Amino acid sequence: MRKPIIGGNWKMNKTSMEAENLVRKLILELNSYEDVETVVFPPFPYLQKVKTLLQGTGIAVGAQNMFWEEKGAYTGEVSPLMLVDVGCRYVILGHSERREYFGETDEKVNRKIKAALKFGLRPLVCIGEKLEERKKGLAEKVVESQLRGSLSGLNPSQISQIVIAYEPVWAIGTGETATPQQAQKMHKFIREILERICGEKIAQSVRIQYGGSVRPDNIRELMDQPDIDGALVGGASLDAISFVKIVKYGGK
Ligand code: PEP
Repeated sequence: MRKPIIGGNWKMNKTSMEAENLVRKLILELNSYEDVETVVFPPFPYLQKVKTLLQGTGIAVGAQNMFWEEKGAYTGEVSPLMLVDVGCRYVILGHSERREYFGETDEKVNRKIKAALKFGLRPLVCIGEKLEERKKGLAEKVVESQLRGSLSGLNPSQISQIVIAYEPVWAIGTGETATPQQAQKMHKFIREILERICGEKIAQSVRIQYGGSVRPDNIRELMDQPDIDGALVGGASLDAISFVKIVKYGGK
C-alpha cells in the first residue's frame, strides 16, 4: 500500500511574511490530516522558518534543489548536509525548470540523488517529456532515458527511498493537464521500467507523483488512477485554500 504524497513547490515565490501566513493556514487545516503525506518546498531563505513553524505537525519540509558536495568553495550552492541541518526531509531534483534554465542533466541529477541519500534526504526526482517530444511519439523514450540516467548505479534499497514525479513539461504552469488516462499510461510505464531496474517488490512500493497544472478540480480523477500516488503542485500550492483542497481530495 503506497501512502499518497502531495507536495507544494512554491518555486521562487513569497516574501517571508507571505510564507508564514500560508504555512499558518496549512497548519490549521492539515495538522491532523494523515491520509496523505504533505510536503512543502519553500525557497531556501525560508526553509528554517517554515520548518520551525511546522515543528510537531504532520507537514514535512523539503528543498527545491541542492548541490552534491557536502561543503567547500562552491559559491551560491547549498549542500545536502545544510538541508538536513535545517530539518528538510525531501529535496526536489531534476525539475524541468532546472533542466531548462540551469543546465541540469541526468548525470548531475544522478550525482545529486546519491549525495542526498548519503545524508538521509529523500530525493523527489522529476522526469517528463517536452511537447515536441510527445508530438514526435518520443515521450516514453525520453522518460525512460531520464529515469535510467537519473537512477544509474543505485541499488534497490536506495531506489526504495526515492519518489518519482512524472511532470510532462507541456503541462507545467500552462493550465493544460495531462488527461488522467495519459498520466496513468506513463505512470504504468515508469513502474514497468522500475521493475526492470530493481525488481517488482521495490517497483510496487515506489510512489510516482503526477505534476502539471494540478488543481482542486482535477486532482480527484488523477488520484483515481491506480499508478498515480500523489501530486507535485506548483501554482495551486501558493494559495492555502486550493492546496488544502488538493491534499484533501477525498482519499484513494
Ligand atoms: C511544478 O512546478 O512542479 C508544477 C507542476 O507546476 P504547476 O502545478 O504550476 O503546473
